[in-house]
Amino acid sequence: MNNESVSNESVTVIGLGLMGKALATALLKAGHPTTVCNRTAAKADDLVAKGATLAPTVGDAIRASSLVIVCLSDVAAVRDTVGPHRADLAGRTLVNLTSGTSDEAREIAGWTPEYVDGAIMAIPEVIGQPEAFLLFSGSPTAFEKHEETLKRLGTATFFGTDPGLASLYDVALLGIMWGMLNAFLHGAALLGAAKVAASDFAPFANQWVSSVTGFITAYAAQIDRGSYPPEDAALETHLATMKYLVRESAAAGIDTDWPARIQALTERAIDAGHSGTSYSSLIELFRGRA
Ligand code: NAP
Repeated sequence: MNNESVSNESVTVIGLGLMGKALATALLKAGHPTTVCNRTAAKADDLVAKGATLAPTVGDAIRASSLVIVCLSDVAAVRDTVGPHRADLAGRTLVNLTSGTSDEAREIAGWTPEYVDGAIMAIPEVIGQPEAFLLFSGSPTAFEKHEETLKRLGTATFFGTDPGLASLYDVALLGIMWGMLNAFLHGAALLGAAKVAASDFAPFANQWVSSVTGFITAYAAQIDRGSYPPEDAALETHLATMKYLVRESAAAGIDTDWPARIQALTERAIDAGHSGTSYSSLIELFRGRA
């Protein structure tokens, strides 16, 4: 496909919730003829005003474009909405940006050879900008065919032929987000008990998170080598300071569940024989081999 045909490629977006609308808006803005379809058709009104075509049925929507993007609440909705129209997918690429499990992605990949599963690591308002990053896996041919169009949505990374891989990255990355946010919220509660505003704590939290990204890089190398030398600090050093976090939380009358869990994990690792190793040895616990 030459650049001109890519820039003019017609795209269908099925699902016009918060994310689907953002996707369709970015495609329209980039000049793609865009067909849209949603269970609640009225949600298409402002997109139609911007130049989108509202398809009367899901079948019409699929047949309108060679690239069909679906973004619904969950995979059950994808099965109900797109599932009955599998025959119409022949010769088209289905890009499923609905969150789901890796097995669900592999199931839907069975509907059509040109299947690409995707995960959106962004909120709707940044779609169309480089800081929105989208992860894809599935058919390399289909991804390459539509790569330029998919890049209109944000920075696109393709992980290869296993259609489940984008979903696995998605949940693993979201796990990091929840872990970090829980730690921040717990810290804000602790400092809040000492009358420190969360917004005064936030710049320090952000600075520390940026230091911790360096630990991730170093620990990833240790995990891949399968050896955990205590190059920065031994597990026992971590454990001693974790106990202060638990004690401070109890003294401030705030919930101790979060730090107590972290402490319990570290104690389990030491009990399992990882005494004197780096914090990265907890990988063995998470792998269930401790
Ligand atoms: P949303 O605003 O709740 O929109 C849900 C969409 O699914 C609507 O178009 C809704 O149609 C449709 N839908 C739900 N059940 C349906 C059914 N049984 N049959 C047909 N259509 C159905 O959700 P969203 O924020 O757009 O999220 C969509 C997907 O993007 C989710 O998988 C989400 O995890 C993922 N995602 C979202 C974000 C985010 O920040 N919002 C970020 C990353 C990934 P109606 O309009 O008719 O209700």
